[in-house]
Amino acid sequence: MKLKDIIINEEEDVNDGRIPKPAVLYEGPEFNKMDFTCSGCIFFSRDDRCEILKPYNVKTVDGCNLWVGGEPKFHGEPLELVPKEVAGFLEGQQGFTCGRCKHFHQIKETGLGECEIVQGPVRREGCCNAFEYATTARPLDRETAPKY
Ligand code: SF4
Ligand code: SF4
Repeated sequence: MKLKDIIINEEEDVNDGRIPKPAVLYEGPEFNKMDFTCSGCIFFSRDDRCEILKPYNVKTVDGCNLWVGGEPKFHGEPLELVPKEVAGFLEGQQGFTCGRCKHFHQIKETGLGECEIVQGPVRREGCCNAFEYATTARPLDRETAPKY
């Protein structure tokens, strides 16, 4: 695949053994709300409660795999439907984006990125449920990165 084809069709799958985007609910920058934190989730309450997790106490910077982007709408009593460990709850640091994930490699020339485990390309401002915090930002390794 040529670089210009990636730019034209960012969502094209690359069948190279990595996980397809839908399997990890990858969402691109167009879905990014408050960097995929609780403060950008419709299940969040301004008094630091989640409508569906058990226990319900969360912070604005936290997040989980059940995130749905939008204005927080929850004002009632927590339902406590899903245990935090089942939902993949994470205490947040600076948000949950590909650019903060240990699996992400930036392609400087295009602004796109490559993921070690999810079929690409992906965007720095996107995210998925396989997110793991990187300890340090890593540049693209041209020798080991998938070739397009
Ligand atoms: S814990 Fe998950 S479901 Fe609850 S507000 Fe945060 S991101 Fe949304
Ligand atoms: S870089 Fe991380 S958050 Fe982005 S698609 Fe890959 S695993 Fe998911």
